[in-house]
Amino acid sequence: MYCPNCGTVAKPKKVTKGSFLIEVFLWLLFIIPGVIYSLWRLTTKAEVCPKCGAPNMIPSDSPKALQAFNAAKKPRRTSSRSTRVTSRMARPDIARDERAKKKKETAAA
Ligand SMILES: [Zn+2]
Repeated sequence: MYCPNCGTVAKPKKVTKGSFLIEVFLWLLFIIPGVIYSLWRLTTKAEVCPKCGAPNMIPSDSPKALQAFNAAKKPRRTSSRSTRVTSRMARPDIARDERAKKKKETAAA
């Protein structure tokens, strides 16, 4: 199943709305709200995306999902990564040099 919300392809997680603790609490206090709450939870069972929790997962072979796959397959720039790393590596040295210069200046004054 494909999630149009975040692009995850995974088996949808089965999620029951509400809380088990609230269910137990209602059963202990009053029987009838407990029954109603249990029925409500059973009727609101939904298959959601395991990553983002979106309930609108669609089959991964549906035309909409395939369209999204093709859009995601666009080539990504890989060269920008190396330049970013080198610039980050160079920056601390520059900062250190400037700090050293300032120290010399303050020492001289
Ligand atoms: Zn998702």
